Amino acid sequence: MRLVFLGPPGAGKGTQSVRLAEQFGLAHLSTGEMLRASRSHRTELGLLVADYLDNGQLVPDQEVLDIVAKRLDDDDCQPGVIFDGFPRTLAQAEALDRLLAQRHTPLDLVVELLIDQGELLKRLMKRGRGDDNMATIQQRLQSYENQTAPLVRYYSERKMLRSIDASGTTDEVFQSLSTALEALE
Ligand code: ADP
Repeated sequence: MRLVFLGPPGAGKGTQSVRLAEQFGLAHLSTGEMLRASRSHRTELGLLVADYLDNGQLVPDQEVLDIVAKRLDDDDCQPGVIFDGFPRTLAQAEALDRLLAQRHTPLDLVVELLIDQGELLKRLMKRGRGDDNMATIQQRLQSYENQTAPLVRYYSERKMLRSIDASGTTDEVFQSLSTALEALE
């Protein structure tokens, strides 16, 4: 099973995808986590992407696509994958379609987490991760609106989109998501 999670920063993609991956025996593929890890290990990629991460801007597509393509070959990805924070641009979405077509493992579902701006800001300010200051948060919300929100239309035209209310508690949202995934099994 292969799923994509769409939704602005703070919608709960990370939390929910970790739980769902465990429940359904899937790999959790978070490009944000992989990029932050490469920065903290000071790899060549890490040095290249640090400024983007610190400013809340999207890392160039090619860098992200390279790490995703490599990760997809890992053993734990073979039963299935939850993509968290990827794709984030139309070019990434098209490239993902090609990567998965080559592997004969198409996407099963794209879940959009819906939540209003006020609630998002509250959650992000509370979280306090390194890149969670007011200026970066505004920039990341802007990147989402400009570059990632168009993917909602891309996937809905392909009849793959399912929108889920993400304003409830973690458990409530997890319940709705589990039900949606069980229907795919
Ligand atoms: P959030 O969704 O809360 O912003 P992520 O961990 O998904 O957190 O992403 C953190 C940062 O990593 C982003 O602001 C961006 O700089 C970078 N990033 C993550 N995924 C991608 C991607 N698919 N394409 C480009 N940049 C990315």
